[in-house]
Amino acid sequence: MRIKEIVFSKLKRLYLVDSKNDIAEIGEMLKDQLHDIADVFFNELLKIPETSIILKNTKIDINLHNTIADWIGSIFTNYSEAELESLIERQKRIGIVHATINVNLNYFNHGIGILKDEIYRRMRKKISDVHRFSEAVLIVGELFDIYISIISESYFFNELLHESNQLSLKVKGLTQNTAIECERLRSMLMEWSRNALMFLYQSPEINVKNIPHLQYSNFGLWVIYKSDFLSHPLNVSSELKQHISEIDSALFQAVRFRMKNKKDKFANAVTIFNDAVTKSSWFISTIVDQAIEIDTGMDPLTRLFNRRYLSTILRRQTEICNKQGLPYSILLIDLDHFKKINDEFGHDGGDRILEQFSKLLLESVRASDFIFRYGGEEFLIVMGNVNQNEAIIASEKIRKKCDKHIFKLTNNKNIHLTCSIGIAVHDGHPDYNRMVKKADLALYDAKNQGRNRAIFIVENNEAEQFRTLH
Ligand code: GH3
Ligand code: MG
Ligand code: MG
Repeated sequence: MRIKEIVFSKLKRLYLVDSKNDIAEIGEMLKDQLHDIADVFFNELLKIPETSIILKNTKIDINLHNTIADWIGSIFTNYSEAELESLIERQKRIGIVHATINVNLNYFNHGIGILKDEIYRRMRKKISDVHRFSEAVLIVGELFDIYISIISESYFFNELLHESNQLSLKVKGLTQNTAIECERLRSMLMEWSRNALMFLYQSPEINVKNIPHLQYSNFGLWVIYKSDFLSHPLNVSSELKQHISEIDSALFQAVRFRMKNKKDKFANAVTIFNDAVTKSSWFISTIVDQAIEIDTGMDPLTRLFNRRYLSTILRRQTEICNKQGLPYSILLIDLDHFKKINDEFGHDGGDRILEQFSKLLLESVRASDFIFRYGGEEFLIVMGNVNQNEAIIASEKIRKKCDKHIFKLTNNKNIHLTCSIGIAVHDGHPDYNRMVKKADLALYDAKNQGRNRAIFIVENNEAEQFRTLH
């Protein structure tokens, strides 16, 4: 018998034969106490630093509380054989959610331990007969064991799926269009260093407080968000971080010498600064040269990321958001009335437009952003360190750019095209799928309101207000 069948037959035996009445009795006993048990569960977990961080980020709202109470109740209910299948499916979904929000399974098991203890404690008060009490303990223990096994299996399956995607991301290297990426990265560094030199030489009043930090520049952001994904025999990410700190500290030294008017030392520090920038620029070209060789696995038409990497990226953005407090946003973009383009100019014509639109997107975002081909004519952009206002501004920029752009077909025919955009901002919830759903709803609304607009849904208590930015 396979594990799945063993689990099913165990549940069948407990729910339909051996323990049918006992389970119903326990259910009856706990019926009015489910919320109190959920309270104990949260209170205990909030006492532990590791789990309280997760719970605080999840924001224990009424929903989560109800979900736990409802889940405990669902264990001690009678089921028909047909209903057992959906009971198992529900546990699998719990496993997926925990894998998605990246909860360590040990914490999950610890939580189950708290629930079990609390249920035993409450049963002990109600069941005076020792023999009956130990029977009930055995049943509760066995039920929880089965549930944990289903949840853990689904959890590990999803973790594995995630890990293998991450692995293939690493293997393939995450340079969207490597040559462009290389140019942009180096030009970001050069532009920043030009500004830094201007600051050094031309600021009338030089002050350590307003030093431009490479760490916080576009270049620095790229390193935070993307460098980890570059597969490389060298340790790209830490090497780049090292360069950034060398450059930043060389600049700091130069500023200090200028403030003290020590000319020789100042000139020396500027040379060290320039050398560090040159070294870094050279290093970037070596990364990209190697990445070119392995740069495959992107969507072949648009050269954008494949959708299957989305969960890996969102998971990472959520981690960065929670650890470093940087916000992030997503834009879901759909071309308006695209079917008409295909109908009028054929699929090839449509494809040419998709290529040009992808290029327009690539030119409209920061190097640290990720653009995915989400569906046929749908795109999703993940923007690191972008809050609600910045996301709205970025969306409007893209929408206007598309509206003004002249798309070209091979026969020199010009096409005008618009797009609709749904915006969502990370709200601290570890389940990033919620964000994609929010963006989807906003996009749907943008279409309903007449297309060629960007929408952000403002949640105000339970009422939803819509803001149109047209
Ligand atoms: P709406 O404004 O509501 O989004 O209208 P629409 O016509 O864009 O929407 P719909 O989703 O009904 O149609 C999308 C069309 O995009 C359908 C399909 O023909 C086309 N499409 C999807 N993928 C591709 C592709 O890879 N190449 C081309 N040329 N067309 C595609
Ligand atoms: Mg569509
Ligand atoms: Mg469309």
